[in-house]
Amino acid sequence: MSTPAAAPWPYFPAFLSLQDQPVLVIGAGDVALRKLRLLLRAGARPCVVAPQLHDEIRAWVDAGTVRHLAEAYGDEQLSGMRLVVAATDDAQLNHRVAADAQARGIWVNVVDDPAHSSYITPAIVDRAPVLVAISSAGAAPVLARRLREGLEALLPARLGAVAEFMGRWREQVRDRIAAPARRRIWEAFLDQGGDQRVLAGDETAASRQLQQILDQPGAASVDLGEVYLVGAGPGDPDLLTLKALRLMQQADVVLYDRLVHPQILERVRRDADRIYVGKQRSNHSLPQDQINMELVRLARQGKRVLRLKGGDPFIFGRGGEEIETLAAHRVPFQVVPGITAASGCAAYAGIPLTHRDHAQACIFVTGHPRKDGQLDLHWDQLVRPGQTVVIYMGLGSLPTLTEQLLAHGMPADWPTAVVEHGTAPEQRVVVAALDQIVAAVADENLTGPSLVILGQVVRLRDQLQWFSGGAEQQM
Ligand code: SAH
Repeated sequence: MSTPAAAPWPYFPAFLSLQDQPVLVIGAGDVALRKLRLLLRAGARPCVVAPQLHDEIRAWVDAGTVRHLAEAYGDEQLSGMRLVVAATDDAQLNHRVAADAQARGIWVNVVDDPAHSSYITPAIVDRAPVLVAISSAGAAPVLARRLREGLEALLPARLGAVAEFMGRWREQVRDRIAAPARRRIWEAFLDQGGDQRVLAGDETAASRQLQQILDQPGAASVDLGEVYLVGAGPGDPDLLTLKALRLMQQADVVLYDRLVHPQILERVRRDADRIYVGKQRSNHSLPQDQINMELVRLARQGKRVLRLKGGDPFIFGRGGEEIETLAAHRVPFQVVPGITAASGCAAYAGIPLTHRDHAQACIFVTGHPRKDGQLDLHWDQLVRPGQTVVIYMGLGSLPTLTEQLLAHGMPADWPTAVVEHGTAPEQRVVVAALDQIVAAVADENLTGPSLVILGQVVRLRDQLQWFSGGAEQQM
């Protein structure tokens, strides 16, 4: 088999076992300190050569973890070393060390000087025992750093615990199941969310799951699906939580509704099946109890089911009802909070929800009418000075809302904002006095998901507005 036209590798990637191995570090300043930290984590026995030691290095020498070999470098110090690091600020000395080491066939790294190095060290994402090493062979350090940041964000902090868990079970699995079936066992464990259970700290459940898989090898249809009830935030995909993004990347199937911005849907694993469950205002495409049962049904097929909801699933999201059904059917689930529309819209409209001088409280209500068309609100509670009122699902009933608020004594000039498609590129904000807002909203023809914010804090937008979205028709 040939590998046609593949770009040649400038380096061979490898992980070295340095446990108890002698490593020579020339230099004992900040740079050497950083290298020594890594070497010590890998269990090496470093020796330093330098006239003066950084305090931390001095402490290691005193504790016996690092040997202070000499003040000045001499090539005889290289004998018996497995690895050499030249980390002085004297380029000439570094080059001499490198030449001496290479002449003896000892791997040497001159810090930040690949041309004189026989090995280079990668950027590391550390989830020990899992380590990700990234190198652009010095061609694009900034790109490598970007990649590392991306991976840092993507890989769960407790990934190491997953590897350790699997490591602890390895022997047992090996004893019971022969290769290649063994691999399928581990894949089933991961596919059915075993890693998620370890990440969530429930190793007992993870063990039980693995045991179950072991007891029925070949039974790919074991009932071990799970539902992730995930808040997708108000629209801007950068406002997703890291956990939301991670679960979105793992889902086999996603159920989403109208409020989930297309930009966010794009970040769901490409292979996942997508099921639109609607939820238009006053036109629910799929009744809530059918959604609840669909989640149960899919999870029972052993799938990882992502229930993606706009904003936060527990704020006017009916997320509670969905997991009640799951709990009743003993389907495992996780809930991931999201940035709710109030936080998102307020931030991106430059309207602080509370303010020492203007609003000491903030109240979230729904403007969605009851079945009989009436609004079920405690009007007196809403008409109070020193508070901000945020109304979800209030666009359709805005005329009734304003009428009632005015009738219950809210001043006609009370500052009111309506934020449509908050945090998304198409965000629009309409600001008017309470008695003018219906007309202003009609003028702008707002029809998308919109949040109503009432209170003196709305005035602050004049100074604090910063987000211009991408739309032209900003007011
Ligand atoms: N669970 C969601 C709210 C669902 S109720 C959350 O926490 O945000 C649906 C209502 O939320 C919409 O009618 C609208 O009032 C508000 N909403 C959601 N996303 C919005 C957005 N990007 N801009 C403005 N309002 C939004």
